[in-house]
Amino acid sequence: MDFTVKEYKKLLLALKDQSYTFQTFNEFINNPNERSIVLRHDVDLLPYNSLAFAKIQAKEGVRGVYYFRAVPESWNEKIIKEIAQLGHEIGYHYENLTTCKGDLEKGIQDFKKNLEALRELSSVSTICMHGSPMSKFDSKDLWKENDYRDFDIIGEPYFDVDFKEVFYLTDTGRKWDGNKVSVRDRVNSSFNLSFHSTQNIIDALNQNELPDKIMFTFHPQRWNDNLMMWSKELVFQNAKNIVKRLFYVKSE
Ligand SMILES: [Zn+2]
Repeated sequence: MDFTVKEYKKLLLALKDQSYTFQTFNEFINNPNERSIVLRHDVDLLPYNSLAFAKIQAKEGVRGVYYFRAVPESWNEKIIKEIAQLGHEIGYHYENLTTCKGDLEKGIQDFKKNLEALRELSSVSTICMHGSPMSKFDSKDLWKENDYRDFDIIGEPYFDVDFKEVFYLTDTGRKWDGNKVSVRDRVNSSFNLSFHSTQNIIDALNQNELPDKIMFTFHPQRWNDNLMMWSKELVFQNAKNIVKRLFYVKSE
């Protein structure tokens, strides 16, 4: 079975075996290594899955970047702080033109407010657009009339990475070649390489067939086996605690 935590660990070990260095996106923008992997995580929902990824990486001495949305299904302050403490980079997964229905003025105010709130929890120097495929608005358009550098942001993958030089892989739709049909998660690639399963990537790694610079985008909520059960259990526990709290408030 693919897109399980077990498969994920195999991929991570195969990358380590090929002597790649692992850089956060911030480090990659500032000073990319000759042979470098950026493990990017878009925390669209189920942040406990991302925490599990962050822990697995920390155990292997590997660091990545985690982009959080300013919505309840992603924004968990305890988890954001914990992932930062494990040594990973925290970034903002912005979607302000979707939430503000295309209003640029409102959108940039919303961006500023959420970025400030995230900076209360961790330093933040990079951002990444959330694709919102169901929305007609593309939040990257925020930067047609604004400059994220004015907010001390040094990088946004869709603007600051030359994907002709950096090979891009994303787990869209639980396959590695699904971004061909993605609405917004597409890049101009010059690599004539395509992979379907995680095992395909591992095989290519073992043959040393992958480029020197790679950005992987993971949506950890898509990776599940017992991890999913584990986070469901946590959600269930949290729900029980909320019910308990409501009960106590009422009875006071
Ligand atoms: Zn997203």
